[in-house]
Amino acid sequence: MSQKEINLLIALEFLNLQKRNKHPNGYFDAAKRWYPDESEKCQECESIREPSYRFPNSKMVHCRTLKHIMSKYNVKSENGKFIKRICKEYKEKVPELEVIAKGIGLTLADLFKPKSIQFIKKLASGE
Ligand SMILES: [Zn+2]
Repeated sequence: MSQKEINLLIALEFLNLQKRNKHPNGYFDAAKRWYPDESEKCQECESIREPSYRFPNSKMVHCRTLKHIMSKYNVKSENGKFIKRICKEYKEKVPELEVIAKGIGLTLADLFKPKSIQFIKKLASGE
């Protein structure tokens, strides 16, 4: 998979998370505070304020940001501007973007499988 294709998938995941078509992997505790699963965590997650009574979704808000998604999949920050451009172009056309993603042999569901996450991380790091 090329970097361009990875960027496209990252954009697609971001738009779906923003539109609440998808949700980050995590759980609510008894006090309705949300915490990310291990599979969801990125390097930045720890530095985000702990969920509290007043801010139960502090980590969930972070887990829907492009910064988190790029960090989670180990995509270099220099790709940010390209991903933002794709997002701008396809903001209202997520189904179209999904068709393109399918065209490169990955379904959106694949993105959320731990195997695919490792695969994408590997590709992104150029190993
Ligand atoms: Zn994070």
